[in-house]
Amino acid sequence: MKKNIRVALLGNPNSGKTTLFNSLTGSTAYVGNWPGVTVEKKSGTYYFKGKGKDREGIDIIDLPGIYSLSPYTPEEVISRNYILKENPDVVINVIDATNLERNLYMTTQLLEIDVPVVLAVNMTDALAESGKTIDYAKLKEKLKIPVVPISALEEKGLDNLMKVTKVEANKKREAYSVITDKKIEKVTEIYKKYKIANPLFHAIKALEKDEIEESENKEAYADVQSLMAQDKEDYEAVIADLRYQFLTPLCAEISTKPHKSEKEKWTKSDRIDQVLTHKIFGMLIMIVALFFVFHFTFSGDLLFLNAFGVNFGEGYEGFLSIMVGGEEYRPFAGLIYTDGGINSIGEFFHVLAGDNETGILGLISLGIKALLLKWNAPEWVVGFFYDGLLNGVTAVLGFVPQIMILYTFFSIMEDSGYMARIAFMLDRIFRKFGVSGRAFIPMIMGFGCAIPAMINTRTLATEKERIKTIRVIPFFTCGAKAEFIAIIAAAIAAAVGVDAGLFTFSMYMLGILVAIVSVIVMNKTTQREKVPPFIMELPTYRTPQLKALTRHVYNKGKHFVIKAFTIILASTIVIWLLANFGWDWQMVDENGTGSILQSLGSFIQPLFTPLGFGVQAGEHGWTLTVASIQGIVAKENVTATAETLASIIDVDGFTGIVEAIGLSNAAVVAFSVFNLLTIPCFAAIATAKGELSNRKVYRWTIAYWFLLSYGLGALTYVSFAYVWTLAITIPVIALLIALLIIYDRHKKKQELLLENE
Ligand code: GDP
Ligand code: MG
Repeated sequence: MKKNIRVALLGNPNSGKTTLFNSLTGSTAYVGNWPGVTVEKKSGTYYFKGKGKDREGIDIIDLPGIYSLSPYTPEEVISRNYILKENPDVVINVIDATNLERNLYMTTQLLEIDVPVVLAVNMTDALAESGKTIDYAKLKEKLKIPVVPISALEEKGLDNLMKVTKVEANKKREAYSVITDKKIEKVTEIYKKYKIANPLFHAIKALEKDEIEESENKEAYADVQSLMAQDKEDYEAVIADLRYQFLTPLCAEISTKPHKSEKEKWTKSDRIDQVLTHKIFGMLIMIVALFFVFHFTFSGDLLFLNAFGVNFGEGYEGFLSIMVGGEEYRPFAGLIYTDGGINSIGEFFHVLAGDNETGILGLISLGIKALLLKWNAPEWVVGFFYDGLLNGVTAVLGFVPQIMILYTFFSIMEDSGYMARIAFMLDRIFRKFGVSGRAFIPMIMGFGCAIPAMINTRTLATEKERIKTIRVIPFFTCGAKAEFIAIIAAAIAAAVGVDAGLFTFSMYMLGILVAIVSVIVMNKTTQREKVPPFIMELPTYRTPQLKALTRHVYNKGKHFVIKAFTIILASTIVIWLLANFGWDWQMVDENGTGSILQSLGSFIQPLFTPLGFGVQAGEHGWTLTVASIQGIVAKENVTATAETLASIIDVDGFTGIVEAIGLSNAAVVAFSVFNLLTIPCFAAIATAKGELSNRKVYRWTIAYWFLLSYGLGALTYVSFAYVWTLAITIPVIALLIALLIIYDRHKKKQELLLENE
């Protein structure tokens, strides 16, 4: 018996490989209902039931999804190379039972490699729901490999799958092809002569004139081409056709017709899409749906009841109030309604979680403070723990439940397949501007976190497309940015009464708009290219599964909590120290005046004058400068630093800073726009550096992020503060657009001339 069995999961995108991988190994890799989520191989271990020494493990590798073993994109090459060069003991070919014919296409190619294959027919739950059945015995007989029905999601059939896999790992399998052809035999002989492993597979690739084959097995390939010199046949097409000639009747034979007519099923899903992806209604529904996501997460006036005149009064004092030192303390004031409006679900949880003075976190923080005071700790120690440490950490933690609510909405949209429709609709519009829809998937992933999104750009076909996409991913507001947008929204709500949900929604929309305009401009200028053809595949609608949903949202929350106690905590301590000590290493008196941080911040502060929070912000303005710069370490730091510095200058949170400074609304919005669009966090910068192979392109990317955010921040401030400037700005923008169109026409003419030569 073999020890250390190594098994690779291979299959089409969206067939459920990662779900299977997670179920088998207990990992929590990213699963999404759209093609192309996994772009790197991941490994884990499956253990058979048993105890102690009897527990044997099988190593499992999750590979990026591919439709065929003739790859085009870098992540597809990973999968092909793994199977051919790393010699796994068994390949588990995961296929989607509801989409047999397309999924089995790659199976027919896999059979041409000398490796044991187990066919895992996944999503049998969905198959059963549709009323269809598959004759697994017949499928096994036709393909000559073991076939195991499973449901990765419901964890059914998995032990059986691993048992069968273990048996196969100790066998050998000789490759064969479902296509029989004299030419293939002849060419295979050539490869055998050169003693190349997997001759049948390579022979067929050589017949198809596969590019990777040409570069990897030069001699054999050249021999094949000289043998075929007289042959004018297009073997790539012929072979694909022959595979389908085998598959189409096979699929018809093994699957029974559903009881409900298939037509009914289809038209139902089609009818949904007719509305949801309709050119006009689809877009309207999308905007309304997104608006409500933000409304239910951030609004303090649910359904705008208060705005329409229903007044709920000034703050329900909460259902829990505690006596603290004889004084009644109400940590949950404003839980249900604040300032006349009812809280949205997200806002409810935000108030419940609280900060270092309110809610659950406030109870804990104030408890620690009370203990320290009781133990007669010196004032600076209390300050360090309470204002420094706890303030920053609770500022970030207080938003975790709210952000988790936001991601519950996002996950539902993603798992149901709706997010893929959004990408589809955006694709339809922006195709006209020469932007390929394939890039929308990593872009939308940017709403979660820019890092996996940037890595996902490996699914894109060209280098230029990757550059464009990586550059705009940070404009898709990530979870950490959602936090500071929320505190800014609260300040705006306090100042002018604009609903917090509406403000947050607008900021997200602004990010999307800037991203799209950026891509269009780059596409017409520095990153000109013919957009590669792309047909967006729409996954079937699925009811989001509670298990996948909770896992997704739980991971998001965990990520924030870990960050709060590591990088945010460390940054907060540094900020507190720098804000409390002067250059002479003595503690400063009050308001941070004379501190290292104040002098550094004040030095840089004038840089932000065009954005309205520079010299105008006066003596407390350095706090906003420092918070913005801290954002480059981690975006949560904008929130954490603002809170910490607010306590140092002795005001109440970000809203307090804005009031203390007397900052104009225009400047507050400009602060938001700048931080939203500027250079992302260190982790994202490092990822961008890794993914952009060209140093110069990388440096320009950083410059681009800074200049764009600075420019748009200034534009925002100036337009709001001095409305008359629009009389200049608007014509200038119009002129720029005109120049862009002229430049594009000129370039197009040149390109056409070149083509005709
Ligand atoms: P991958 O691209 O092959 O790695 O596929 P994923 O594991 O990311 O899954 C794609 C989608 O299919 C997700 O929405 C999963 O929740 C869903 N899915 C995976 N396995 C099953 C299953 O057995 N049954 C059903 N109904 N859905 C599944
Ligand atoms: Mg995957």
